[in-house]
Amino acid sequence: MNNAVDWKPVVEQCNGCENVVEEHCRIWIAPSAKWRMGNCPSATHMKVETKGGTVKVRVGQQKQKKK
Ligand code: SF4
Repeated sequence: MNNAVDWKPVVEQCNGCENVVEEHCRIWIAPSAKWRMGNCPSATHMKVETKGGTVKVRVGQQKQKKK
């Protein structure tokens, strides 16, 4: 009888996520905390969105040109 963990109910943004199990998230204890800081990192229903602006593209190191 160890019910110490107080699982919080999922929030509105969790609708559609595959991690919702009976109104609770099976990964995070407090889903609302995950969404407070932006998109939940474990959401299965969210596409990775770029937050407007320019997207930085990582480019490999430039080779030095030899003469
Ligand atoms: S993984 Fe994230 S989006 Fe999915 S139910 Fe849990 S808190 Fe909500």
